[in-house]
Amino acid sequence: MEFATFAERADAMAAEGGDLATVALVVDALAAAGDDLPVVARFLRGEVFPGWDGRTLSVGPSLCHEALARAAGANVAAADVEERLAETGEIGAVAADLDLGGQTGLAAFGAGDGAGSADDGLTVREVYEELVAVAEATGDGSESFRTDTLFGLFTRASPTEAAYLARLVLGEMRVGVGDGAVRDAVAEAFLGAAVTTPVDERDADDDTEALVAVVERALQVTNDHGRVAEIARDEGADGLRDVSLSVGRPVRSMLAQAGTVADALGSWGRVAAEVKYDGARVQIHYEAPDDPDSEGAVSIYSRNMEDVTAALPELVEHVREHARPPAILDGEAVAVDDDGEPLPFQEILRRFRRKHDVDRMREEVRVELRAFDCLHADGTDLLDAPVTERHDRLRDLLDASVSELLVSADADEIEAFEATALAAGHEGVMLKRPDSTYDPGKRGRNWLKRKPDVETLDLVVTGAEWGEGRRAELFGTFELSVRVRDGSGDGYATVGNVATGITDEELAELTERLEPQVRAESGQEVSFTPETVFEVGYEEIQASPTYGSGYALRFPRFLGVREDKAPGDADTLERVERLAGDGGASTVDPE
Ligand code: AMP
Repeated sequence: MEFATFAERADAMAAEGGDLATVALVVDALAAAGDDLPVVARFLRGEVFPGWDGRTLSVGPSLCHEALARAAGANVAAADVEERLAETGEIGAVAADLDLGGQTGLAAFGAGDGAGSADDGLTVREVYEELVAVAEATGDGSESFRTDTLFGLFTRASPTEAAYLARLVLGEMRVGVGDGAVRDAVAEAFLGAAVTTPVDERDADDDTEALVAVVERALQVTNDHGRVAEIARDEGADGLRDVSLSVGRPVRSMLAQAGTVADALGSWGRVAAEVKYDGARVQIHYEAPDDPDSEGAVSIYSRNMEDVTAALPELVEHVREHARPPAILDGEAVAVDDDGEPLPFQEILRRFRRKHDVDRMREEVRVELRAFDCLHADGTDLLDAPVTERHDRLRDLLDASVSELLVSADADEIEAFEATALAAGHEGVMLKRPDSTYDPGKRGRNWLKRKPDVETLDLVVTGAEWGEGRRAELFGTFELSVRVRDGSGDGYATVGNVATGITDEELAELTERLEPQVRAESGQEVSFTPETVFEVGYEEIQASPTYGSGYALRFPRFLGVREDKAPGDADTLERVERLAGDGGASTVDPE
């Protein structure tokens, strides 16, 4: 395809506001792309390389401005390009407006491999090959090679071509073609889906949605728009169904939404709960060696699919020692202290993308793996297997550093699991739908990160219940109250009980502290003179007739004693009312 044709088609997409009309234009462009289909599919998404491919152009704005200025002739400097950019705000418009390559013979200075004479048209292939050369240039002189190559391309570009070339190299295509548009267009162009036909006008046996889903899954598995378009065209839906993961090529990470234990149990019945580690996401690819006596390659990718292997040598060693290739593992790289306890997130950042002084920093910040998922094991892709099976496979192929997975239908059990995680210094818990598949790149409802407590409450401890069994000598559950102001001063109204989040040691301390405050006792229950204030976390506040305040905390959790607060400083019923009215809480329908 001529690059001019590509640029004109892209321009038409940019001018089109409607989603379906844009998809229709993408359908036409893909159908007309011929041998250049993979490149055209990627260029339209503003990508030069497949998602899994770590190569980048290393072309920043200043390099691009310099190349444009040179192509615009002796009277234009990079500063002029920047000035125009400040006026128009968009590099494509600036590039289209410059008189590029106007002077005879300028293109002769072009340094790129395939640079031709000033009057032959650029092709998509040629632009792609030049950009590959730009991406692969290294060492001394690579910066001027990049500038020269772009200059060579710009001198041969028409205004529209220059606009899309500049946008492409800067990753600012802005033609309104997202992942969904490419997916839908591939389904329509090559599989016969009727995406651009309104739903009520489709055939009765229309299978558009199923075909779109096939393309979607192939995109997730391959992480490569170009390859998916080509397979769809050449091998159809069956070809796409057959695509598989490639150890060594990262896929996008599955992501999580915020949610609560109540949400999760309500929707799924059972929950697979895991510690939420506070580190940096890693996807580890461990290739089987060709020859059994040698070691297989280990590559580690960040959540953005950046190759961070060189920064984390101890993870490479760990995987070689404890895992069995071939495998693709998903997990978190965490910084830990000498006892293996988690350190704050900032610590892992000191290691994560480091290119220099890796050995020295390795001495300073210890990094360990916490693996929680397995996408491929022993030659089998596991994306379509349920969470629980993937976790079993993970445990089978990695004999250390695997997360604990609690599958439970019991809210209290999950709460206790969370309390233990928090007490151990973790960030919280992840709640996963036990039978759900691994969906690369999806931020769906199948993985929930437990919503952090929006705002904690400082509540007065107005009562307690003695514990049972070996804890009969200790208080077990504490009654919490909000402050209620009226004309005569402060009163207190109950809002819930807390038993979660308190260690045995804290329980002993609290009992010793609160016993002298007991003012009445009846059976297992005591009431206190209001003196002590607890800081309490919770998931939500609901209107409830159970407690005197008219509200109840869902899943309250003890965070500590507010030594600095007296009951008169505790939170008021007004604040609880306000919080309950916010999006952070829900109210039960009075019915
Ligand atoms: P957030 O970054 O707040 O959106 O939370 C989601 C992130 O938590 C994921 O991308 C992971 O990097 C991280 N994470 C920590 N522990 C887990 C776990 N057990 N399962 C899934 N993700 C986890």
